[in-house]
Amino acid sequence: DLPFSLVRATVDQAPVAISITDLKANILYVNAAFSEITGYAPQECIGRNESMLSDQRTPPEVYRELWGCITRQQAWRGRLLNRHRDGRRYLADLTVAPMLNEAGETTHFIGMHRDITEEY
Ligand code: FAD
Repeated sequence: DLPFSLVRATVDQAPVAISITDLKANILYVNAAFSEITGYAPQECIGRNESMLSDQRTPPEVYRELWGCITRQQAWRGRLLNRHRDGRRYLADLTVAPMLNEAGETTHFIGMHRDITEEY
């Protein structure tokens, strides 16, 4: 088995923004790429909601579809506009997935995103 410290370091250093939330999208953990892409240090975003990243120009249907999917325990992938700490908007390719316990219940959500602004 891999040592836990290696698994932890892998998530910390993965070159994609990763966050772990509770069932209401309150942020419990962010990795280094999350801080780099969003501009928020861990102490500035842990305890806040993922909606801190949302930009008013993303249609509400996108969020409804996201929540519809993850509450059915399916992963959702899509593109939406996020707002960087400095106010700049960026296009995010986001995947949100449920994390399940041994009883098959959702305990957390994991978010993974990349800034794809430059690809457009
Ligand atoms: P909200 O108040 O969130 O409402 C938007 C819609 O979502 C409504 O239809 C509402 O009914 C539904 N909804 C909200 N919360 C729940 C819930 N607990 N259960 C069921 N339905 C619900 N958003 C971003 O903009 N950028 C991100 O990078 C991003 N990453 C996320 C990562 C994770 C792991 C999760 C779980 C969510 C993420 N979100 C992200 C979605 C975010 O939580 C907000 O729903 C979104 O930003 C819209 O915020 P809002 O305040 O405008 O609307």
